[in-house]
This record gives sequence, structure tokens and C-alpha cells, in this order.
Amino acid sequence: MNLQVELGDRSYPIYIASNLANSLAETIKSLVVENRPFALIVDANVAEQHGEYLNTIFAETPRYVVPSGEGSKCFEQLGHICSFLAENRIDRSGAIFAVGGGVTGDLAGFAAAAFLRGIDFYQVPTTLLSMVDSSVGGKTGINIPEGKNLVGAFWQPKAVFADMDLLKTLPEREFAAGMAEVIKYGLLYDAEFLDVLENYGSLNPEHSELPSVVCRCCEIKAEIVRADERESAASGGRALLNLGHTFGHAIEAVAGYGDYLHGEAIAIGLYLAARLSEELALIDRGSAARVRKIVEQYKLPYRLRSPLSASKLLAAMSRDKKVKQGRLRFVLMEELGKAITYDEINPTRIHKLWSEVGAEV
Ligand code: NAD
Repeated sequence: MNLQVELGDRSYPIYIASNLANSLAETIKSLVVENRPFALIVDANVAEQHGEYLNTIFAETPRYVVPSGEGSKCFEQLGHICSFLAENRIDRSGAIFAVGGGVTGDLAGFAAAAFLRGIDFYQVPTTLLSMVDSSVGGKTGINIPEGKNLVGAFWQPKAVFADMDLLKTLPEREFAAGMAEVIKYGLLYDAEFLDVLENYGSLNPEHSELPSVVCRCCEIKAEIVRADERESAASGGRALLNLGHTFGHAIEAVAGYGDYLHGEAIAIGLYLAARLSEELALIDRGSAARVRKIVEQYKLPYRLRSPLSASKLLAAMSRDKKVKQGRLRFVLMEELGKAITYDEINPTRIHKLWSEVGAEV
């Protein structure tokens, strides 16, 4: 399954299938023929668990192994990678292959954007989350102590290779976390897709329909990004992809990064966004219960595992970088399958909602 992200001269293909090793090898061959230098930036767990795959495709390629985990999205790793690229004589004609989850993709993508003021890069996502979300759309970046993803660049890849075979080693909990973003696409853009997910009941890396599910998510993201690449639309636009994220980011920030996987925090955020939409009479009563059921069906939480302070959660929300001119901006639903941006919400309402999912008031 292939699809094209249409962005004028920055358009690129996404390949989605099992066994993409050959297509990847073809791309590498064409770089070799053109005498262009390239390097591999790979997540440590992936390097360990897919050694044979990588050795076959990237036999002699200079390799930088990124320590696994969110902590690697930092200036220190960025510096190491830039030095590694310079030491290996990657010039302006050069390219980076980022093989790993969102951490490796965001970090290597930012290195590609910054090194020599920009070189080509290819995404080979190895988590469900990175296949359906972070590898598509060109947001790259790192974290600083003041917040997540606060430093970065828009830098589109030259191609994305989503190889289902690589998912077979992904821990179940990470797969479930990726499903939160999959469910998000249904909720924000495609009611029929949501029905399909409900009907599948469950998914796993071997499921024959997984490529088509990944493909639909990438199509939706590509369509939204094409219309608003730099998230500059006054309302709607790329911001809609943040459905559930204002709540989710607050959970991650207050619980401490690492306690909840990103997708787990987003799953709770999706439920809260549905509850808030219900409270504002944007969607019918009972819709949030349906969202809760889907989230649970895919082994995701809709409540906090242990109590966090509602006031701290609210404060974290107002520090989120999606806040515009001091006003909290929410992504809500006017029906399941259609998201909207919404600005005017009384914080007391949010405070109350947090208590519904187990926060301490
Ligand atoms: P991740 O990259 O940390 O990967 C999760 C874990 O899975 C890691 O421990 C990793 O080592 C391991 N792993 C990866 N692939 C594996 C495989 N095939 N087999 C076994 N283990 C494997 O996390 P993620 O969930 O992929 O991405 C989260 C990151 O993505 C966050 O930093 C988030 O900010 C970012 N993100 C970016 C965008 C964007 O648009 N750029 C969108 C969403 C999320």
C-alpha cells in the first residue's frame, strides 16, 4: 500500500506493507549509484532486536545507536549525532535513515533539519505510534527541561517505510499505546473508520488488516497536514490532530514523564475530550461512554491509575504550548468523527472533569 503526502516540491511517498526490506534496499542502492553519503540513526532496542534486518540492508553504513527512551530527545544526543555525521563525512548531498519509534524519528529528523542547514532524511518507523503519527507530517524536535518538543523544526522526510514486520518485536503495551492515536483519527475525522475499529475488536502486528488501518491513519494525517502544514490556521486545521493531547500532555507532565506511555495519557485525554464535548452539548449523551468502550477494547486506560492533583493538572494544561494568548484552546468533537477547536471554556468545568477520572480535588 502506497500513498503520497502532497506538499508541492516537498511531497513524498509512504510505503506500508510487510517485508519492505527490498524497497528500502532499492532506495539505498540509488543513493550509492549517485555517490551520495548516508548514515543510519537507530534506536538501541531496534538495533538489538532487528540486527539481521539492519545488517542486510545497512551492511557498511555508518551507524549511530540512540539510547532508547524519551530522555534521548535532548541537545546532548543532537550534538553527538551532528558530530557523528561530520566525522563520517556526510555532506550536503547526504542523507539520514531514522529507524526507530517517535523518539528516534523526531531526534534524527531534527538533526537532518539542522546539519549543514538541512539534509535529506528517510523515516523507517518501528512503533505503531510512529507509523501512524510521528513519521508523517514533518514535525521534528527535542525536549528541554522547560517542556516537551519545545525546540524543533518542520522538516519533511523524503519517504516513509512502514514495515509491519518490524512491529513483531514491539511490546504489547507499546502497541496498545499506538492504538490511542489510531482511535484518535476515527474520532476526529472519520466516523466509519471508528465503526471499523469497533468491529475489529482487537488488533495486533500480525492482523491482516493492520496495513489498511495504518494506511487510513496516514491518509487522514496527510490530508490535514497538506491543508495546514505549519499549524497556522486560525481554527481547525492541523491543531485538530491534538485531540486528547491538552489533557494527555498534562497527565504526562504531572505524573512525570515515563509513568504513562504517551498513548496511555492520550487515551484518557480522548475520553475527557468526549466528556467535555458532551457537557457542552456538542455531542449526544452516551457518546463519551462509547469512546470509553473503544479505549478499553484496545487495552487502554480511560482513568488515572493513581490520583494526581486536579489543580496541578489544570496548571499544566495552561503551560501547554497550544495555549494561545493565555487562552486554553481545546480540540473537541461536534460528533464522533468530526473534531473542532474550541476556545471559551470555564476552568471550573475542567477541574470537575479531572475529578471524574480519578484526580484529587
Ligand atoms: P519510542 O520511540 O520511545 O519507542 C517506544 C519504545 O519502543 C522504546 O523503548 C523503543 O526502544 C521501543 N521500540 C521501538 N520500536 C521497537 C520494535 N520494533 N521492537 C521492540 N521495541 C521497539 O516512542 P514512540 O511511542 O514511538 O514515540 C513517542 C515520541 O513520538 C514522543 O517523543 C512524542 O513526542 C513523539 N511524537 C512526535 C510526533 C510528530 O509529529 N513528530 C507525533 C506524535 C508523537
